Amino acid sequence: MICEHESDGKRCRAFALRESSPPLCVRHSEDPDIIRRRQEGDRKGGAVGAARTLPAKTPAPTLETAGDVRALLAETIQQVRLGAVDTRTANAVGYLASVLLRAVEGHELDTRLTELERALRGARSPGRV
Ligand SMILES: [Zn+2]
Repeated sequence: MICEHESDGKRCRAFALRESSPPLCVRHSEDPDIIRRRQEGDRKGGAVGAARTLPAKTPAPTLETAGDVRALLAETIQQVRLGAVDTRTANAVGYLASVLLRAVEGHELDTRLTELERALRGARSPGRV
């Protein structure tokens, strides 16, 4: 049996509860007991679905060097172990840290190359032979 609830001319397509008369699904049931259980389920679902993150006032980490990124990852691993951060948040931190690490390494390589080029130009300039 399919739920008979209609809204904006569209009929609900969920299965109706077995003893519901008229046939209505869990979402549209008007039975007070079903409504109470539905609300409980929504609350629990909300609590399970919410990401566990650090408080908003947690200071932002310094993330300029590969060592800073390493320290952030070590800290995040510990926070996951303590249950202060959930695995979804930790996965996002891990992914972003890997992107950041590539950017930091690219920047460090660019800086070293620029220094080498400068040193090479200095060595080739007349008067320094
Ligand atoms: Zn329905």
